[in-house]
Amino acid sequence: MPKKYDYIIAGAGLSGLSLAYRMRKSASHQNASLLLLDKDTKERNDRTWCFWSKKEDLFDEINYKVWPKIQFADSEINQTYNIDPYKYKMIRGIDFYKHVLSFLNTCDKTDFVSSGIENIEETASEVIITTSNETYSAPWVFKSYYDNLDFSKSNFVWQHFKGWIIKSELPVFDKDKAIFMDFRVPQDDETRFFYVLPFNENEALVEIAVFSEAIPKPSFYDPFLKEYIKEKLEINTYEIVEEELGAIPMTDYNFNKIKSNKVIHIGTSGGQVKGSSGYAFYRIQEEMDRLMGYINQNKLADYKRPINRYHFYDRIFLNAILTGKTNGAKVFGKLFKKLSPQTIFKFLDEKGSFFNDLIVFTAPPTWPFTKAFFQELFKR
Ligand SMILES: Cc1cc2nc3c(=O)[nH]c(=O)nc-3n(C[C@H](O)[C@H](O)[C@H](O)COP(=O)(O)OP(=O)(O)OC[C@H]3O[C@@H](n4cnc5c(N)ncnc54)[C@H](O)[C@@H]3O)c2cc1C
Repeated sequence: MPKKYDYIIAGAGLSGLSLAYRMRKSASHQNASLLLLDKDTKERNDRTWCFWSKKEDLFDEINYKVWPKIQFADSEINQTYNIDPYKYKMIRGIDFYKHVLSFLNTCDKTDFVSSGIENIEETASEVIITTSNETYSAPWVFKSYYDNLDFSKSNFVWQHFKGWIIKSELPVFDKDKAIFMDFRVPQDDETRFFYVLPFNENEALVEIAVFSEAIPKPSFYDPFLKEYIKEKLEINTYEIVEEELGAIPMTDYNFNKIKSNKVIHIGTSGGQVKGSSGYAFYRIQEEMDRLMGYINQNKLADYKRPINRYHFYDRIFLNAILTGKTNGAKVFGKLFKKLSPQTIFKFLDEKGSFFNDLIVFTAPPTWPFTKAFFQELFKR
């Protein structure tokens, strides 16, 4: 007999834990039982999340660093911006996992089991989940990882990256300023940029991000990192304290196509990664707030991922990048030359007016986007 729960969260990463935290903080459903399943124990610092925000956020107490200023650089400009009323915030994966799991540990009727899920089967009344050594069931499952999705008919590119947390001998970093994007790196027909997140004057995460269709070997990034640290940051003596490696799918795939009645897809598998930027932390927080509304009102059957005009904009951007009509360096370069970061953030947050959208769309060269627009419009 399967072990029965009221809700199961399949995959306890960012979205799964963000949802569980909200469910257990919410006054409603305190008697409902909740199981979190993850193949990992969530005891490693496997990622660093950065996001901009202009308000107090749910996880502010675990911010590792908050920067009031950002810098953008390419071959033509190198500028620092005060981003008030926004702040650029950073949370370390390990701090987030510890914070949420230790809270969940104090909650009744809440279990975390570290075990890989082998099968999820939906029946008329419940969902049955099989792991290597147990079977569980619940009327509702929130699933935060995907398997076997066919992206071949969608625009799809990986944003993959490697970073080093370095400690320099000399105090070289401006601790109040994050380097948001620095395109001063050979592009080789791809989109490549650095970002630098200083924790103090001696320590920072220096990372290179690349948009491409295939993910290279981890050693691919090392010469770029070494060169950038030496030539652009002008640091000769440093120690590598930690390494971060990862990849984010950037796609316009319609995740609403994943058909299921009782399995609700969240996080990356719910389409909450922004197709044109790869940012997901803040979007996941907002979407988990929205999902909580449906849970609290017992209306989960009505829940649907929202699709708005920005989904079409992301399609245009991805088309233009993937078909070589333009590249990220040109687009972001023009945006930062012509517009304030606040205007760009508003657009990327999908919170702009039509007028704001128009300003952003006409800042980069318009011809590549016009061609991409018509291709996407007539795409079946
Ligand atoms: C290294 C890295 C850095 C990133 N940095 C940023 C950033 O700075 N800002 C930003 O906005 N976004 C960032 N992202 C993108 C995005 O925010 C993260 O990928 C985020 O973790 C996505 O949340 P999620 O819940 O969809 O997936 P995850 O957090 O990956 O959670 C999915 C969970 O499912 C589990 N799982 C998978 N398969 C199974 C299985 N078969 N059985 C059981 N469990 C399973 C995994 O172990 C994992 O814990 C980053 C991504 C990576 C990889």
